[in-house]
Amino acid sequence: MRYIRDIHADKQATGQPTISFEFFPFKTPQGEATFFGKTLPALMTAKPDYASVTYGAGGSTREKTLEIVERIQNDFGLTTMAHLTCIKHTRAEIGGILDEAANRGIQNILALRGDPPPGENWAQTEGGFEYASELIAFLRERGGFGIGAAGFPEGHIDCAEGRETDWRHLVGKINSGADFVITQMFFDNTDYFRLADFLKGQGVAAPLFPGIIPVANAGQIKKFSAMCGAKLPESFASRLDELGDDAEAVREYGIEYATAQCRELLDRGAPGLHFYTLNKSKAVLQILGNLGLA
Ligand code: FAD
Repeated sequence: MRYIRDIHADKQATGQPTISFEFFPFKTPQGEATFFGKTLPALMTAKPDYASVTYGAGGSTREKTLEIVERIQNDFGLTTMAHLTCIKHTRAEIGGILDEAANRGIQNILALRGDPPPGENWAQTEGGFEYASELIAFLRERGGFGIGAAGFPEGHIDCAEGRETDWRHLVGKINSGADFVITQMFFDNTDYFRLADFLKGQGVAAPLFPGIIPVANAGQIKKFSAMCGAKLPESFASRLDELGDDAEAVREYGIEYATAQCRELLDRGAPGLHFYTLNKSKAVLQILGNLGLA
């Protein structure tokens, strides 16, 4: 397996975008069987450059995340990054998780602060990290891992001072040692380009991979966007309302919208695309097909 920064450098040299897929740990044995038996084999036909697996809210999926990353790498030969969050972990625990990750052949970590479980507020664990930048610095000092960080084109929802302050914190994460940034989902490309321009203005060379979610369900996307502060443009939200309960029409609109979003992002210089797959294959494959990338 390889460092994602090296995979990206090779893609860049050929003028191709870096394509990645994000998964979350399944909740049931049936979910696992479907993922490894159908979803992932289907997605592999698009020849992704790497994948990533999330870490449950409140640090709840430590073993599962590492197990799934290891299995994707071993069974499918696809470099896969483990997400890791600071929440509810001491430095010593994080050190133990990193040792285990290294033993399992994991070479890339997406270093995050994490969100508390529903109903709880963020609180730094005694002996743990307050911000993702501290975890990134810890990883850099330890060595042996490629490091990713999260970026927020609309500013992080908790950052009361506004988006530019949050973007400065992102520069801090890159200066602490992150190799690349993956953004939160967004639906207005202007937000991505503003962040990209800001980072360029700060002399940041790390690639900013846009996070794309193909909308498949209007209720679900409204819930996600409220939770993470990613706004739905007026025209987009009203089209979803018009389509109402017509699930197939919503799915098709989601694919059409994401295709147009991705096309503009790539045309205007985004270094790749990171898909929030929600452990599904069809919409992502259709989008990549529309773009001539699958
Ligand atoms: P930080 O960079 O620490 O920022 C958190 C807040 O603190 C921000 O408001 C920031 O502006 C502020 N801040 C940062 N540094 C400073 C400073 N020095 N001084 C003052 N304020 C500061 N969550 C999960 O639980 N599991 C996952 O697997 C997961 N995967 C994700 C993948 C991606 C691509 C993205 C974009 C997010 C993901 N998240 C995940 C969500 C993420 O954990 C939350 O959004 C979290 O609230 C912020 O994480 P962060 O790493 O950006 O935190």
